Formats: sequence, C-alpha cells, structure tokens
Amino acid sequence: MWTVASYVLRQKLAGRKQYPLVLMLEPLFRCNLACAGCGKIQYPAHILKRDLTPEECFRAVDECGAPMVSIPGGEPLMHPQIGEIVEGLVARQKYIYLCTNALLLKEKIHLFHPSKYLTFSIHLDGQREEHDLAVCRDGGYDIAAEAVKEALKRGFRVTTNTTLFDGANPKSVRAFFDEMMDLGVEGMMLSPGYSYDKAPDQKHFLGRARTRRMFRAILSNRKKNWRFNLSPLFLEFLMGKRTYPCTPWGMPTYNIFGWQKPCYLLQDGYAETFAELLATTEWSNYGTESGNPACANCMVHSGYEASAVNATFSSLGGFLATVKATLFTGYRDEEALRLLDQPEAPVHPLIQIAPTSESLQETRA
Ligand code: SF4
Repeated sequence: MWTVASYVLRQKLAGRKQYPLVLMLEPLFRCNLACAGCGKIQYPAHILKRDLTPEECFRAVDECGAPMVSIPGGEPLMHPQIGEIVEGLVARQKYIYLCTNALLLKEKIHLFHPSKYLTFSIHLDGQREEHDLAVCRDGGYDIAAEAVKEALKRGFRVTTNTTLFDGANPKSVRAFFDEMMDLGVEGMMLSPGYSYDKAPDQKHFLGRARTRRMFRAILSNRKKNWRFNLSPLFLEFLMGKRTYPCTPWGMPTYNIFGWQKPCYLLQDGYAETFAELLATTEWSNYGTESGNPACANCMVHSGYEASAVNATFSSLGGFLATVKATLFTGYRDEEALRLLDQPEAPVHPLIQIAPTSESLQETRA
C-alpha cells in the first residue's frame, strides 16, 4: 500500500495526468481451460503458439514504470520461461500478481521462490459448483483449492481473483468468501465479467444496474474477517455508492501484438511503445460516458479500479472516504439483506458489442 501511495503521490506532484498503476502483461494467449466467458483464447493456432520473450516482458515493464505487474493470459504457467520472467520482475522490485487457474501450480511451483513481491492470484469464480461451471471443467475448484494450500504451505503469498457473471447467487458468493478466508488466502479480488465479443457465451454478462444490485447484496453487511485485495472505493463503486469515469491507461495491456488500445478488454489497434499508446489513443472515445457501446455496461476492475485509486489521492474528501471505508467495513444495509433472499434469475440479456435497447436501458439505470 505504501509503494502504491508513494508512487501515486509522485505522479501527482509531477503533474502527470495519465499514469499507469498496474501493467497487464500477457506473455501468451494459450490456456489449459476454455472458459465460457473468456475472450483471450479464441485466436488461431499460430497466434496461440506465440510467447513474449523474457526480454520483451522486461522492456515493457521498464518502459511503463507501473509499480505492479499483473500476469494474466492465457495461462501464464504454460509459458516455458515463466520462472525467468518472474525472477526478472522480482529483481526489479515490481509487485507481481501471477494470475493462474492453478491447474499446473503444484507441478511448476519449484520454478518460483517466496517473495513479498510475488503473489499467486488464483482464478476461482465461486464455490465448487459455480467455479467448475464457469471454467467448464469438473474438478477445477478442488485442484485450485489444493494448489492454494500447497502454495501457502511453502510460504507464498496467495490471493484469489473472481469474475462474477449474471445469475451469480449472492449467498453462494458470500459463502465462497468464507471458504477462501478459511483456506488462508491473503485477500480476494472481484470483478463483474465483461462481454468480450470473442467469448463463446455471450448471454451471461451483467448490465450496470444488475451489477450494482448484485454487488450491493454481496458486499453489504460484510463479515469482519473478509479481506479484499482491491481499493475500498472500487468496492463502493461496484455497490453503486460511487460513480467514476473509466481510466483505461491506469492498467495498460502489453502482449505479443504490442500495447493494446485502449484497454485490457478492447482491441482498437496497437502501439509499439507505451508513450505512443498514451499519445495516439483517442481516450475520449472510451468509458461509459463516451457513448461507445463497447463500454456501455463495463464496470470491470481494469477500467475502474485505477479511477478509484486516483480518487483517493485527488482530494482530502477522497482520502477521508478511503480511510472511512477501510476502518468501517460493515456496510449495514437491511434492503441488501432482503436482496440476498431474492437472488435474481439470470435474464440472458444484452451486452453485445452492438448496442441493443436493453443494454442502453441498463446503462442509463
Ligand atoms: S469502459 Fe471498459 S471496455 Fe471501455 S475503455 Fe474502459 S475498461 Fe475498456
């Protein structure tokens, strides 16, 4: 937290308006799962075969300068030089979140050494049944839970990352939080799913109004022992207590094609350098307020968590709100308790890249 705070304050003092917080480094697109809601593995075979070299990874990290590096994919443990990449980033004192479905973690864990800079961020989309359904793989939850135990036993930092889709049962999600805390993970990351146009299942993405309702039910009346690895103001954003514009440059994406415009989710071209990405992207064309239908229902962390962090350091009010949200985490809410007893049935809506009347209704809600 101190590293992030001092970094953001340095950017503010330098008068930098667009600064990266987390580099999303995708060293490959291959994966050993084929999840219904994933837009990353639908590339043709010759693309799926390609890897970023460690040198390309280091160049991107050095050029970008973000204090944190998230390594999603694809499945990063399938990269033949993932140990070397992580070692190079630890040497640079970057805080790394290695995002993995954990299917290969036990087999590959010898490639890594425990460090305060390295966290395994385990992809788990809910309790056993919900997770296995989301990743289209029976037994996926049990393998991941075993891998979490093994990594913790060996002294690694471990968090979870969870994507929630339309129809997620808030009660079950809360029970999942209990399970993760019992397992001993350090913190949990959450995000609503995004409607990748390449994802095979286009029916289960959430509109903004349903996202807020669902997260209000899940995150109100919190248990004291739940720990989240997210900005507290971003959690309030998900619950509908705050609105923020998107900050796509806050979590820029680098992969085998270059620097992806404008964000982790959309592909409106590529830049060769990070400076070129900042200079040549038409940022005003993106974010919910832009009217861009691709952004209409987006509330994902890669667009909005950097906005929440920026809000913390932009005013005394933002800072005090963060302190309050950190100290008083109960969020007592009777209506949210009622919502827990009436989980919404999925409506199989909207949220295609082309706007529909339903998606626009959700956006305005
Ligand atoms: S709103 Fe979402 S899809 Fe649009 S630029 Fe921001 S993060 Fe990307």
